[in-house]
Amino acid sequence: MTRRTPPRPLDVEALFPEVAAFRRNTVRLHPRRGEPGPGDSSLGGPLRWPAEEPWPLCPEHPGSPMVPVVQLYRADVPDPAPFPPGCDLLQVLWCPRRHDHRWVVPSVHRRSAAAVGAVRPAPPAPPEPGYGQVPRPCVLHPERVTEYASWDLPQDLWDALEDRIEQVEAETGWDYQYHLSTAPGTKVGGWPGWAQEQPWPHCAGCRAPMHHLLTVESTEEHDCRWAWTPVEDRAAPAEGADLSLGDLGGVYLFECRSCPGRPVTHRAC
Ligand SMILES: [Zn+2]
Ligand SMILES: [Zn+2]
Repeated sequence: MTRRTPPRPLDVEALFPEVAAFRRNTVRLHPRRGEPGPGDSSLGGPLRWPAEEPWPLCPEHPGSPMVPVVQLYRADVPDPAPFPPGCDLLQVLWCPRRHDHRWVVPSVHRRSAAAVGAVRPAPPAPPEPGYGQVPRPCVLHPERVTEYASWDLPQDLWDALEDRIEQVEAETGWDYQYHLSTAPGTKVGGWPGWAQEQPWPHCAGCRAPMHHLLTVESTEEHDCRWAWTPVEDRAAPAEGADLSLGDLGGVYLFECRSCPGRPVTHRAC
């Protein structure tokens, strides 16, 4: 079943023309409980991992296997595409055990699906993973939507918009941050769905601002963000990955597209 986000309830760029410069496309992945295979894009599903390649282990818990988090095929996420040239498969794993203040330690892999021969089965998840840090298997329903920066707007623009945002909310009930700007839930590209304000990461190699690669959120269902609930899920709550990251926040992955090997960093909040 496809998932369709309803249009924004107000014309964002008519009310706040300044944010047009901060318009981006994102792909909401809409993970829903299912039985994906290694040939499918998934969240928490089996990866198409080469049999001859060692399974990733946590650098902070030596010998402790990581667990599959996200697998994306280019055919399912053509634009904005998180794939370097020659690659059509993105795989994200993380160590689900406790790490001070960072919750998880992720690992990102890009490859050509056609180059993977025999597939290595995943080892069992480590005993005592952090609560809610091993996603249950979900199939994805990718949907491209438009969003606008919220936390990431420059401070002077926030100052200029503040009164208008409050006025619009008083008149219509729609809040810029919750209903009009960034899409909630697990998504590719666009703006990170920060649960709290965070400094934008810069590359340790070239010092340039990094690209938002992927947000993995605990849930896309928030009572206060009803305006983003897909049409298909309005009658009954959707079954997702059952993640519980921090205070129902998320893990935010960034990459540098200029440096060799596309170094990755992450934030958690
Ligand atoms: Zn670990
Ligand atoms: Zn760089």
